[in-house]
Amino acid sequence: MELAGNTALVTGSTSGIGLGIARALARAGANVMLNGFGEAGAIEALRADLAAETRASVAYHPADLSRPAEAAALIQACEARFGAVDILVNNAGIQHVAPIEDFPEERWDAVIAVNLSAVFHATKAALPGMKRRGWGRIVNIASAHGLVASENKSAYVAAKHAVVGLTKVVALETAEHGITVNAICPGWVRTPLVERQLEARAQADGIGVEAAGRLFLAEKQPMPRFTTPDQMGAMAVFLCSDAAATMTGTSLSMDGGWLAR
Ligand code: NAD
Repeated sequence: MELAGNTALVTGSTSGIGLGIARALARAGANVMLNGFGEAGAIEALRADLAAETRASVAYHPADLSRPAEAAALIQACEARFGAVDILVNNAGIQHVAPIEDFPEERWDAVIAVNLSAVFHATKAALPGMKRRGWGRIVNIASAHGLVASENKSAYVAAKHAVVGLTKVVALETAEHGITVNAICPGWVRTPLVERQLEARAQADGIGVEAAGRLFLAEKQPMPRFTTPDQMGAMAVFLCSDAAATMTGTSLSMDGGWLAR
């Protein structure tokens, strides 16, 4: 139970990668604050199941991270409930796919707010406590799209590149405080966010969703496999462990070779 006694806040953890990371951190002994959207009964069932499976204390807060004040309120709520935010995983994210001339301004603003500005607001609010305690771990979920681009994803690619830059800045500013700040850059992970893109592609090409999945992988990744939320969780636990105590300001690709091309 490497992380026993620590509290982890994982934004956007009612689904997909965030849930995989929350589960891995709870299994490693951390108390966990969940966050994200969903139906209240389903979220409570998920919270209770995670607590029962791991024996960790698991709470949930419904902050909407597109609103700066709610990001700060989420940190405060976690500190009030568990006494600290030792581990902050900035994971919540949304996608919109369209050529830039057709990209709705409102979607641009939403993607930047959730994928980038929320990382700033949550980090800003969490750092005073981490500095006071002399220990902290911040794990930002960027993307292969934080390092290279694809067409039709202007807001997402801009936000994720900015998250990689922000990760470096915060790593420098916290380097003398026992705090590490790193980004994980996944390629394709089969979550609801990607499932929606697969369905759109399947419809556009008149093919099945599984065939669309194979196409997505073939277009980007030399390795024809999706990374799993559990694998993302294992990487987050590693970044929180003592083995990674001097890793800071890095971007770690988990992308089946996407960036090697
Ligand atoms: P997902 O849609 O399964 O989960 C997103 C989570 O964020 C959900 O819990 C959702 O409720 C929450 N969320 C969305 N808007 C929110 C808001 N305004 N406030 C609070 N919570 C909000 O997506 P995912 O694929 O698990 O994505 C998680 C992260 O991983 C994102 O940052 C995404 O960009 C990144 N990522 C995903 C992939 C992939 O292939 N799935 C690849 C690279 C990076």
